Amino acid sequence: YTGKTGSELLTEKIKKFKVHEYHSIPIVVQESASVYDAISTMFLEDVGTLFIVDEHSCLIGVVSRKDLLRAAIGKQDLSALPVHIIMTRMPNITVCRKEDLLIDVAKNLINKQIDGVPVVKDTPKGLEVVGRVTKTTITNVFVELITDNHI
Ligand code: ADP
Repeated sequence: YTGKTGSELLTEKIKKFKVHEYHSIPIVVQESASVYDAISTMFLEDVGTLFIVDEHSCLIGVVSRKDLLRAAIGKQDLSALPVHIIMTRMPNITVCRKEDLLIDVAKNLINKQIDGVPVVKDTPKGLEVVGRVTKTTITNVFVELITDNHI
């Protein structure tokens, strides 16, 4: 018996949650895709953030719902407007890696005021996109804490 309280044990457990245990699959689009394609993909895949990748699946940008809304209220032809024109681009992208602690990713989502981050793997060609962690990921973990009898 460790003498630790239930809440101390729970805190220790949560602090050990890693990205690789909880991340979901990334939804990516190629940099040559149009804003129209990106909007279609967002609806079809039912996500709020798309990662823009090059031909090696390496990260070059992010587009969110608001990025696409901003482009859509402009006067441009959305099928002729490449998504790479409107995306937030590297190196200004917050990423995480599989071995990172989920609590640190959650803090980043709050501090940077973003909905999600790509999970990346370092390769010679760049940061390969292998997953995503979003506010939904964190919400699922919160619910699982109760349903899995951690408490
Ligand atoms: P929304 O625009 O739907 O509110 P976000 O809050 O996630 O969604 O996005 C806000 C801004 O931050 C957008 O311009 C988006 O391109 C950018 N952004 C989203 N995710 C990231 C990220 N992981 N790193 C850097 N910028 C991001």
